Amino acid sequence: AFDVLVVGGGPAGAAAAIYAARKGIRTGVVAERFGGQVLDTMGIENFISVKETEGPKLAVALEQHVKEYDVDVMNLQRATALVPGQSDIEIRLESGASVRAKTVVLATGARWRQMNVPGENEYRNKGVAYCPHCDGPLFKGKRVAVIGGGNSGVEAAIDLAGIVSHVTLLEFDTKLRADAVLQRKLFSLPNVKVITQAQTTEVTGDGAKVNGLRYTDRSTGASHHIELEGIFVQIGLLPNTDWLKGSVALSPRGEIEVDAHGRTSVPGVFAAGDATTVPYKQIVIAMGEGSKAALSAFDHLIRTSAP
Ligand code: FAD
Repeated sequence: AFDVLVVGGGPAGAAAAIYAARKGIRTGVVAERFGGQVLDTMGIENFISVKETEGPKLAVALEQHVKEYDVDVMNLQRATALVPGQSDIEIRLESGASVRAKTVVLATGARWRQMNVPGENEYRNKGVAYCPHCDGPLFKGKRVAVIGGGNSGVEAAIDLAGIVSHVTLLEFDTKLRADAVLQRKLFSLPNVKVITQAQTTEVTGDGAKVNGLRYTDRSTGASHHIELEGIFVQIGLLPNTDWLKGSVALSPRGEIEVDAHGRTSVPGVFAAGDATTVPYKQIVIAMGEGSKAALSAFDHLIRTSAP
């Protein structure tokens, strides 16, 4: 059995694996796709101390750094269940195999909910963005839309309004769902327009980048086109935790509940990164949390293992 088994090979999982391996304990990583969301990212400008990098480059660096250590990486393996036992924890894999460990670090990340309209995938990273903290500055002085009138959409619109020239916020419903205080702030901004009952139907572009979006006004059925350079989709971040339902405590949003040490509701099981309740889903945060979870797992091992 492993001393520490990390599930997930994104920034959180890679950091956890390195921190665990550096304690000289048996460390394994099970990952569906080593690299995680970083693989789908282009420019990264907020990975502190690295002025600028690209997702695929960072993903390779993560893997190389992990491989500097004696870590058993099981890539292209999907975990389907976590079963706590008497003396260890079992992680069942889709392949039918299972892996046992004294402690587990869950770092299965999350995925942005997509609009699923024509053009969205084609123009991803070419004007279609999901993270205002990451990509907001790329649209300095340009026109953007934010899709979604919940807290994250309205926060994104307020944030972006300070950077870009104009923000159009589109909400599907008849009214915004964000907290009143955020809505007040939003409506006080001169360069924001809110359109409700708007169903986005298409992302348009010139072949190389986004040049607008098409939406249907649900009250009249009329179709409209807005010219702009960027679209921030803020209709939800879905944690990859379906497989943990019933075994580990999850928040109403499906995030793994963790305390300040990265401990979950199950003794010996820790969690880190975008899959958890820790706010602000960012690479540096995921790495910090992954390191913390591995140190907590080590702490747990030295307190519970026979001398
Ligand atoms: P993830 O990166 O999501 O990794 C999860 C890992 O778990 C993957 O290896 C996945 O394959 C694996 N996994 C999932 N389910 C299972 C399972 N059942 N069994 C086994 N393995 C599983 N952040 C920044 O700081 N700066 C940026 O510029 C930036 N830009 C971004 C741009 C885009 C387009 C996107 C999508 C995200 C961006 N982010 C950015 C956010 C950043 O990528 C995430 O915060 C970070 O990757 C989270 O790391 P993580 O390890 O928690 O999860």
